[in-house]
Amino acid sequence: MLDAGIKEQLKAYMDKLQQPIELVAAYDDSDKSQELRQLLEELEPMSDKISLRTEESNDVRRPSFAINRIGTDIGVRFAGIPMGHEFTSLVLALLQVGGHPSKAAQEVIEQVQELDGSFEFETYFSLSCQNCPDVVQALNLMSVLNPNIKHTSIDGALFQDEVEQREVMAVPSVYLNGEAWGQGRMTLEEIVARLDTKSDEKEAEKINQKDTFEVLVIGGGPAGASAAIYASRKGISTGIAAERFGGQVADTMGIENLISVPYTEGPKLVGAMEQHVKEYDVDIMNMQRAEKLIPAAKPGLAHEVRLANGGSLKARTLVLSTGARWRQLGVPGEDEYRNKGVAYCPHCDGPLFKGKRVAVIGGGNSGVEAAIDLAGIVGH
Ligand SMILES: Cc1cc2nc3c(=O)[nH]c(=O)nc-3n(C[C@H](O)[C@H](O)[C@H](O)COP(=O)(O)OP(=O)(O)OC[C@H]3O[C@@H](n4cnc5c(N)ncnc54)[C@H](O)[C@@H]3O)c2cc1C
Repeated sequence: MLDAGIKEQLKAYMDKLQQPIELVAAYDDSDKSQELRQLLEELEPMSDKISLRTEESNDVRRPSFAINRIGTDIGVRFAGIPMGHEFTSLVLALLQVGGHPSKAAQEVIEQVQELDGSFEFETYFSLSCQNCPDVVQALNLMSVLNPNIKHTSIDGALFQDEVEQREVMAVPSVYLNGEAWGQGRMTLEEIVARLDTKSDEKEAEKINQKDTFEVLVIGGGPAGASAAIYASRKGISTGIAAERFGGQVADTMGIENLISVPYTEGPKLVGAMEQHVKEYDVDIMNMQRAEKLIPAAKPGLAHEVRLANGGSLKARTLVLSTGARWRQLGVPGEDEYRNKGVAYCPHCDGPLFKGKRVAVIGGGNSGVEAAIDLAGIVGH
């Protein structure tokens, strides 16, 4: 299942396990179960802190497996085989359940640990979805940090009946305690902010205490990041307020037209962009949606930007770099059926339309590429 090079790398990672973990496998008689058995039997000998046993309960999806920290309530479950884009999620889950610390900010870790209540998450992913690992990894980490949080990641292509019954037509799709909860790419911070009912209030309070900026950039895509770097390099006090730092680039897989960089990937470029901005004294305020702009009453006074969480920021100069959004067709049902038949990512969501009739709207480069890719999966 794993080639020699990967095995060697994985073994080196497994040396970092600090606490014993067990892999608890639920098989059936499918070919996929055979593949899963092979994978788990290859993982077990990689560390003497890993053990493998079969699941006794009948109340779990098959094929699936749990990774549990022995002697605790901490664990995560994968239904299906987390290869493809989810392989990193598997490696991180093994490490984190095994006590290896995460790189998440301490403030967010504490916020997760303080979450009260019982949260049973299920995430549907596809192995070709590049946005899914972020969600899978965030929820896995949360269940490692807080035993009140449980998470199962499910390969939608393998559990078609379930996907049909729940009308899952886009990935990642997240269910919480049996109810549809969220769709699309979400960061750990975004998930925590939605669960922490007081987070808006706390954020608004922090925001309101900020001094007036010389330059405030609204939007954290490449344009906003460049504007902030330029302003800050001149010694001007600068802030960025962005609904989602990174912008569209975060959703891009391969980028091959950034001169001097023959190939990079969106999330990697966003990471580098953030690092670059942090080289300067720029106040990055992520997950802040601007809702209203109140221009200065007269020259020399500050403009005010009101945010969705109730906070407000002041600045003498504003740079608006709010980029682009998916274009709407304006046809009836488009909003109601978003992610329930109306999809925007052929690579991510294509496998969920296996055997179905699909129309691609738009015949430019992206439309033609989508049609060619989908033709290999869908009915027509
Ligand atoms: C799938 C895909 C693939 C692509 N591939 C390539 C490629 O290979 N090469 C290439 O050159 N280009 C590519 N592009 C285009 C490229 O990503 C965009 O041209 C670029 O991101 C535009 O940058 P921007 O900063 O102007 O806006 P965006 O990237 O759109 O960023 C807008 C920013 O504003 C924020 N924002 C919006 N509204 C508000 C609000 N009310 N309050 C606060 N913040 C707000 C957003 O959260 C975001 O941070 C691709 C785009 C997509 C979607």
